[in-house]
Amino acid sequence: MSEELKLLPCPFCGGTPELIDEGYKVVQCTKCGVASKAVLVLNDTHGVGNKKAKKEWNTRPIEDAIRAELAILGFNLDNALTRNNALENELTETVLWLESLKHNRDFPEWFYDQMHAHINVLRHLKGGEK
Ligand SMILES: [Zn+2]
Repeated sequence: MSEELKLLPCPFCGGTPELIDEGYKVVQCTKCGVASKAVLVLNDTHGVGNKKAKKEWNTRPIEDAIRAELAILGFNLDNALTRNNALENELTETVLWLESLKHNRDFPEWFYDQMHAHINVLRHLKGGEK
Protein backbone atom coordinates (compact mmCIF):
# COMPACT_ATOMS: atom_id res chain seq x y z
CA MET A 1 0.00 0.00 0.00
CA SER A 2 1.48 3.37 -1.02
CA GLU A 3 1.61 6.31 1.33
CA GLU A 4 -0.98 9.01 0.60
CA LEU A 5 0.68 12.29 -0.44
CA LYS A 6 -0.73 15.10 1.68
CA LEU A 7 -1.58 18.25 -0.26
CA LEU A 8 0.02 21.49 0.87
CA PRO A 9 -2.22 24.53 1.39
CA CYS A 10 -2.62 26.94 -1.52
CA PRO A 11 0.61 28.96 -1.99
CA PHE A 12 -1.41 32.09 -2.80
CA CYS A 13 -4.27 32.21 -0.27
CA GLY A 14 -3.59 29.33 2.15
CA GLY A 15 -6.85 27.69 1.08
CA THR A 16 -7.59 23.99 1.06
CA PRO A 17 -6.83 22.17 -2.19
CA GLU A 18 -8.80 19.33 -3.71
CA LEU A 19 -7.99 16.74 -6.32
CA ILE A 20 -10.31 16.97 -9.30
CA ASP A 21 -10.77 14.07 -11.69
CA GLU A 22 -12.18 15.03 -15.07
CA GLY A 23 -10.38 12.31 -16.96
CA TYR A 24 -7.29 14.43 -16.51
CA LYS A 25 -6.23 15.07 -12.91
CA VAL A 26 -5.74 18.52 -11.47
CA VAL A 27 -5.42 19.93 -7.96
CA GLN A 28 -7.32 23.14 -7.38
CA CYS A 29 -7.67 25.54 -4.47
CA THR A 30 -11.24 25.52 -3.12
CA LYS A 31 -10.90 29.15 -2.04
CA CYS A 32 -9.23 31.09 -4.87
CA GLY A 33 -9.46 28.56 -7.70
CA VAL A 34 -5.80 28.46 -8.69
CA ALA A 35 -4.92 25.04 -10.12
CA SER A 36 -1.92 22.88 -10.80
CA LYS A 37 -0.94 21.70 -14.26
CA ALA A 38 -3.41 19.13 -15.58
CA VAL A 39 -2.09 15.58 -15.68
CA LEU A 40 -3.37 12.97 -18.08
CA VAL A 41 -2.25 9.37 -17.76
CA LEU A 42 -3.83 6.92 -20.20
CA ASN A 43 -5.01 3.56 -18.79
CA ASP A 44 -4.24 4.80 -15.27
CA THR A 45 -5.15 1.82 -13.09
CA HIS A 46 -2.59 2.48 -10.33
CA GLY A 47 -3.41 6.08 -9.40
CA VAL A 48 -0.29 7.43 -11.14
CA GLY A 49 -2.23 10.48 -12.39
CA ASN A 50 -3.37 11.35 -8.86
CA LYS A 51 0.18 11.13 -7.55
CA LYS A 52 1.56 13.23 -10.41
CA ALA A 53 -1.15 15.90 -9.97
CA LYS A 54 -0.50 16.05 -6.20
CA LYS A 55 3.24 16.25 -6.81
CA GLU A 56 2.66 19.11 -9.29
CA TRP A 57 0.60 20.96 -6.68
CA ASN A 58 3.15 20.40 -3.92
CA THR A 59 6.13 21.51 -6.04
CA ARG A 60 7.21 24.85 -4.58
CA PRO A 61 10.65 25.87 -5.91
CA ILE A 62 10.40 29.45 -4.66
CA GLU A 63 9.27 28.39 -1.17
CA ASP A 64 12.02 25.77 -1.09
CA ALA A 65 14.61 28.39 -2.05
CA ILE A 66 13.27 30.79 0.59
CA ARG A 67 13.35 28.04 3.25
CA ALA A 68 16.94 27.20 2.32
CA GLU A 69 17.88 30.90 2.50
CA LEU A 70 16.09 31.25 5.87
CA ALA A 71 18.00 28.25 7.23
CA ILE A 72 21.29 29.90 6.22
CA LEU A 73 20.20 33.24 7.70
CA GLY A 74 19.15 31.52 10.94
CA PHE A 75 22.53 29.81 11.13
CA ASN A 76 24.32 33.12 10.50
CA LEU A 77 22.17 34.87 13.11
CA ASP A 78 23.01 32.20 15.71
CA ASN A 79 26.71 32.66 14.93
CA ALA A 80 26.40 36.45 15.14
CA LEU A 81 24.60 36.23 18.51
CA THR A 82 27.26 33.85 19.83
CA ARG A 83 30.03 36.22 18.69
CA ASN A 84 28.10 39.17 20.15
CA ASN A 85 27.84 37.42 23.53
CA ALA A 86 31.54 36.56 23.43
CA LEU A 87 32.36 40.20 22.63
CA GLU A 88 30.13 41.42 25.45
CA ASN A 89 31.86 39.07 27.91
CA GLU A 90 35.28 40.26 26.71
CA LEU A 91 34.23 43.91 27.08
CA THR A 92 32.87 43.29 30.59
CA GLU A 93 36.12 41.58 31.63
CA THR A 94 38.15 44.42 30.13
CA VAL A 95 36.13 47.03 32.03
CA LEU A 96 36.63 45.08 35.27
CA TRP A 97 40.35 44.88 34.57
CA LEU A 98 40.46 48.64 33.92
CA GLU A 99 38.53 49.35 37.11
CA SER A 100 41.08 47.31 39.05
CA LEU A 101 43.94 49.32 37.48
CA LYS A 102 42.23 52.65 38.28
CA HIS A 103 43.10 52.24 41.96
CA ASN A 104 46.77 51.78 41.19
CA ARG A 105 48.56 55.09 41.82
CA ASP A 106 51.17 54.37 39.15
CA PHE A 107 48.54 53.90 36.52
CA PRO A 108 48.13 57.01 34.29
CA GLU A 109 44.64 58.50 34.31
CA TRP A 110 44.77 59.43 30.61
CA PHE A 111 45.33 55.77 29.66
CA TYR A 112 42.34 54.70 31.72
CA ASP A 113 40.14 57.37 30.08
CA GLN A 114 41.40 56.45 26.61
CA MET A 115 40.69 52.74 27.14
CA HIS A 116 37.22 53.53 28.44
CA ALA A 117 36.53 55.65 25.36
CA HIS A 118 37.58 52.73 23.12
CA ILE A 119 35.35 50.34 25.04
CA ASN A 120 32.40 52.70 24.65
CA VAL A 121 33.02 52.85 20.90
CA LEU A 122 33.10 49.02 20.76
CA ARG A 123 29.88 48.78 22.76
CA HIS A 124 28.24 51.32 20.46
CA LEU A 125 29.40 49.40 17.35
CA LYS A 126 28.06 46.10 18.68
CA GLY A 127 24.74 47.76 19.50
CA GLY A 128 24.81 47.34 23.25
CA GLU A 129 24.48 49.79 26.10
CA LYS A 130 27.17 52.40 26.65
ZN1 LIG B 1 -5.89 29.68 -3.09
